[in-house]
Amino acid sequence: MIVGIDLGTTNSLVALWRDGAATLVPNPLGQFLTPSCVGFLDDGTLIVGQAARERLQTHPQLSAALFKRYMGTSRAVTLGTQTFRPEELSSFVLRALKADAETFLGEPVTEAIITVPAYFSDAQRKATRVAGELAGLKVERLLNEPTAAALAYGLQNRDESKFLVFDLGGGTFDVSILELFEGVMEVRASAGDNFLGGEDFVTLLMQTFLQQTALGQRVGTRVEDLPPPLAIRLRVVAEYAKRALTNAATATLQIEHTGETYTWQVDADTFAALAEPLLERLRIPVERALRDARIRPAELHSIMLAGGATRMPMVRRLVSRMFGRFPLVNFNPDEVVALGAAVQAGLKMRDAALDEVVMTDVTPYSMGIEITERITPERMSKGHYLPIIERNSVVPISQVKSIETVQDNQRVIELRIFQGESPMVVDNVFLGNLRIPIAAKPVGAVKVDVRFTYDVNGILEAECTVTETGQKHVLVIEENPGVMTPEEVRQRLQTLSTIKIHPRDQTENRTLMARAERVYQQQLGSQREAVGHAIAVFQDALERQDRDAIREVRAAIKRQLDAIESDTLFE
Ligand code: ADP
Ligand code: MG
Repeated sequence: MIVGIDLGTTNSLVALWRDGAATLVPNPLGQFLTPSCVGFLDDGTLIVGQAARERLQTHPQLSAALFKRYMGTSRAVTLGTQTFRPEELSSFVLRALKADAETFLGEPVTEAIITVPAYFSDAQRKATRVAGELAGLKVERLLNEPTAAALAYGLQNRDESKFLVFDLGGGTFDVSILELFEGVMEVRASAGDNFLGGEDFVTLLMQTFLQQTALGQRVGTRVEDLPPPLAIRLRVVAEYAKRALTNAATATLQIEHTGETYTWQVDADTFAALAEPLLERLRIPVERALRDARIRPAELHSIMLAGGATRMPMVRRLVSRMFGRFPLVNFNPDEVVALGAAVQAGLKMRDAALDEVVMTDVTPYSMGIEITERITPERMSKGHYLPIIERNSVVPISQVKSIETVQDNQRVIELRIFQGESPMVVDNVFLGNLRIPIAAKPVGAVKVDVRFTYDVNGILEAECTVTETGQKHVLVIEENPGVMTPEEVRQRLQTLSTIKIHPRDQTENRTLMARAERVYQQQLGSQREAVGHAIAVFQDALERQDRDAIREVRAAIKRQLDAIESDTLFE
């Protein structure tokens, strides 16, 4: 069984192809969305999901979130006494989803299709593969998120059409333009922003709260300067307000700090006006994708939304304005990517019902080499870029370009490989290099064919052939600091396998306890005492392992906590 996984910045989901349909798998709490948060309990056991999200506030030193943003870098996160790379933290989430799928299916799961933002770089894609390996999953394929969303959509709408997928998640934004023709779906263009998502709208509310209330005068008006415990508390309040404004005209942000209460009431129109700069940024990738696909907005048959942040009315209004029509809302925007990944898994397993659906994908960026331009026979200009595979080419693709020596008696051709769109290589991303020894000849007498091959997983191979001798050289990409070596993966697998995972059947209790602890920390006075008492009773029931008592106490605490704070806070 191959499962489909949406490994999100904010939330992750696992789905599978069963009985001819994509099916979402519930986590131990019965929910399809598992927060992409990990953490350790005081006894050193690992928790993933909602419990870890609750503990971000009460135990920030032992909890981590938003690590997808650092995939493809070696930025380390310290949890207690241990240090982890972003792909290791991601592997914990994948491991939890794998366990959920195994419980759901009653059989082991060893293979997965994992989705990635279309705009993920080579290093970010490799890190995602490593995360899969570290979780004990063979990654069958990496699938672009908007492509997955479109795949879910395409199956139910067999009409010929051109459409655009607008995916705004918690931390990333992706746009893809696709074309469906006689059952064949082709991605015409994709573009995006790896640092724009729903979280930025929360940060905006936090920022404005500091400017609008006296709290800013006391602690400063910059969100990034806030002491972490206060920042986390304010983020929860702002997240709640953001969601409230999806359904209501006004919301109130209120926070207590050293005995004082600070309040700001904001209405939906003010929020939309404040968010204008963020909304403007959403236009840029849309325009680029349209330009690359050479499609006018009027030619699009439909606009499809993905990502939880597209629930915001201001985003829907922007989309309607940009395209002069309403977007489709047939799907739950949080779930559509995972469903598409399950469709792809079904394709892989050659389900008969899916046989006729053929999928193509495109390269998210151009890839090429550094060249020296000859201005006159004497004057050379170094550091220019020669694209070999251009962005938005249909994959898999193999392209060849010829280059020649630029000097008399040149003994080496230094092939430096880059990805990006800028004319000067310094502004592009360096991928690797290759030195090709050649015979000393007059300028231009030695020619070399440079072939780039890019596969469906986004892996690039470069091959050089010296035309005269037929001698071939294949690129060995130099060590990338953002990607673990196979040896490092092997070593870390061993270390990670010694980590104790919190028992799955205790997830519900653990999550509720984490929530109770958080609420205890937030409240004061009699409510706090009541929560403190409830925690003691719950602990006692857990220690006695008295199932009936646990169930009873759990229900009572849930009611109590719901009464204290809005129960929609984390829905
Ligand atoms: P990702 O793909 O990054 O994991 P999701 O697609 O799960 O993200 O979307 C998460 C984002 O959606 C968060 O920023 C969250 O605040 C936002 N979101 C979810 N529901 C709502 C809502 N009802 N109103 C506004 N924003 C929402
Ligand atoms: Mg997403």
